[in-house]
Amino acid sequence: MSTIVMKFGGTSVADAERIARAARRVVKAKESGQQVVVVVSARGHRTDELIALAQEISPKPPTRELAVLLATGEQESIALMAMAIHKLGHEAISQTGGQIGLLSEAVYTKARIKSIDASRITRELNNGRIVIVAGFQGVTESGEITTLGRGASDTTAVALAAVLGAKVCEIYTDVDGVYTADPRLVPDARKIEQISYEEMLELASLGAGVMHNRSIMLAMKYRVPVHVRSSFTDTTGTLITKENPMMEDIVVTGASVAKNLARLILLDVPHKPGMAARIFGALAARNVVVDDIVQSAFAAGSANMTFTVSNEDLDTCQLVLEELRKKIGLGEIVVDPTIAKVSVVGVGMRSHSGVADKMFATLASENINIEMITTSDIKISTLIPQGEADRALRAVHAAFGLHKAGATKTSKARKSTRKTRKGK
Ligand code: ASP
Ligand code: MG
Repeated sequence: MSTIVMKFGGTSVADAERIARAARRVVKAKESGQQVVVVVSARGHRTDELIALAQEISPKPPTRELAVLLATGEQESIALMAMAIHKLGHEAISQTGGQIGLLSEAVYTKARIKSIDASRITRELNNGRIVIVAGFQGVTESGEITTLGRGASDTTAVALAAVLGAKVCEIYTDVDGVYTADPRLVPDARKIEQISYEEMLELASLGAGVMHNRSIMLAMKYRVPVHVRSSFTDTTGTLITKENPMMEDIVVTGASVAKNLARLILLDVPHKPGMAARIFGALAARNVVVDDIVQSAFAAGSANMTFTVSNEDLDTCQLVLEELRKKIGLGEIVVDPTIAKVSVVGVGMRSHSGVADKMFATLASENINIEMITTSDIKISTLIPQGEADRALRAVHAAFGLHKAGATKTSKARKSTRKTRKGK
């Protein structure tokens, strides 16, 4: 008998009626002859409310207690979901992260999963039960409750699908799939039918916000097919899966924008071995997540270093740099806190050229100045002023014809450029 993991996000279990609807879907899957594991998030904005409540009590609550508090959101949902399934005449059992032996690192609110003991779940499934698991939470080896970072119920679901060898991990949400761009910003964005793990990973970390980043890394590592779909309709959503030859024909799969970035330029960094290691080592030690980094040396003895961080980390970042300035002798630090990143992603870029060209020409025709360009083999990113971000995204989306189904498929003639790696 095949196993399926169905994960319902906060909006899909927001109230009694929605929980009942999700329960009907779960029962239907069970009645079709599958073993069903359900993962749920906290209802609606419950997690935000709990954080706000904690902050009312103390601006900096102990992280141990915060994890204990936040884990209650998902615990509410599992019990309610199990009740809803019982009412439909099926056997269901709710399980917390601790009960299914989801062991995590000993970091209270951003813990990573270390292992899951599948035996408890398997036993319940073999007894004919539907197992309802609380997302987003685990326990440490010494039994402390942890949470796995905002949005991490997705990660719980994918991890369970991996250990149970599920045939698919379905992510039920309030959108009907992954779009070629955020439909709130680009009205004619289109639902993508199939996307590779790698592309999805790029889009997720570039701000597409559909799924938790780490869940996609796990899915890629363990080859779990993930189906992102709406909990309100029956239409198929987007399948996130391993790369296949058809995907290569599509040069650009999606476009994304990340706002709220800051760019820092360090002038006159001593041009000698070990400088980058010291600077980024010091930032990493303070948990500053650094995005794109560019270093260029143009004069003997000195180099410039440019990089971006999220605005949330900017204060810490500047503090660290000021400390370093005295120690290693940095020149001026130029900060621009109003940067956005617009990117296009597609595995087809590996074998087709002309993508970078088209992207830059599009921004030029919109009179948008590019501050910085970075690339990977399946992505081109441009840093631009935040105020122009939405307009840039729409222009790029239109230029690559992303609003038209299959429009980005290459013609036969262009296929002749295949096999030139890093085509762009
Ligand atoms: N409830 C948690 C959050 O809001 C986890 C999740 O929904 O994935 O971040
Ligand atoms: Mg989510």
